[in-house]
Amino acid sequence: MTRNPYRIIVVKDGEEHIRQFSIGKLPFILLFVFMIASGTSIFLLFTDYYSHQEYQNKLVQLQTDNTQLIKKIEFQEEKINQFVERLDTIISQDKVLRDLIKLPQIHDDIRKVGVGGSTSPEESSLEYLLPDSNHQIDLKAFSRTIDYYNRLANLEYMIYDEILETVKTDVKRYRSYPAVYPINLNEAKISSTYGYRRDPFKRRKQFHPGHDFSADRGTHVLATADGVVKESKYYGTFGNYIEIDHGYGIRTIYGHLSKRIVKKGDKIERGEFIGTVGNTGRSTAPHVHYEVLYKNKNTDPANYYFVDYLN
Ligand SMILES: [Zn+2]
Repeated sequence: MTRNPYRIIVVKDGEEHIRQFSIGKLPFILLFVFMIASGTSIFLLFTDYYSHQEYQNKLVQLQTDNTQLIKKIEFQEEKINQFVERLDTIISQDKVLRDLIKLPQIHDDIRKVGVGGSTSPEESSLEYLLPDSNHQIDLKAFSRTIDYYNRLANLEYMIYDEILETVKTDVKRYRSYPAVYPINLNEAKISSTYGYRRDPFKRRKQFHPGHDFSADRGTHVLATADGVVKESKYYGTFGNYIEIDHGYGIRTIYGHLSKRIVKKGDKIERGEFIGTVGNTGRSTAPHVHYEVLYKNKNTDPANYYFVDYLN
């Protein structure tokens, strides 16, 4: 048996020269084992390095994503804060409005309890979402906060609906109130007021149930409030006569007109042109005779004008 039974032959590419090494059985096995072991080690080292590198890359990616997410959440928080500020403004305006139109105030407790849920704005701080925070990220709390303000906004919406309805009713009533003159005072002047006066025909004191506005024939006569034309006709001593029903027990009448523009049943708005000044019926000069009746009784038109009628 040869002492070195194994031979390692090394051939360099492109050269004819061949190197040979004789080696014993044991060293050969040791060399073989060493090569396998170092190969495996190198393989494992590289694998570990690469997986670690991959982990690092993923970590960096996650940190980047996380920063972006936090930025997005902060941006949302900013938007929510703006929304809450606007909501606060609406709530203060609502209080002022209620005061103006004599609606009972909504108690702050109702705003808090009425919307349900116990999340108060203090709990809505998003600091717990930040990386330095010791708190855990609680997106549920974030979502609850948004829900809370959504319900608050909804309550405020219903409250505004109620205010709007009340204002609408009040506006209708206000517009049915004969608050203006039946004629432009730049084109007319009051020639007779409400009460007892010397009758121009009978030469004795007689009750005058309205206001007379003298003006040129043809001057426009205007409805003093919203309503429906109840009469438009020639009516004895009134001459050409228009009567408007404003609802709420209020009626106005306009007499001695030269022309009637509207007919019975017409819907009229305040300030609408309804006829022209004339001298029809029992009248000595062109003028409009104007009366305001409340629950079928004559009342002083001066009590209804929203401006000083002597101006
Ligand atoms: Zn009169």
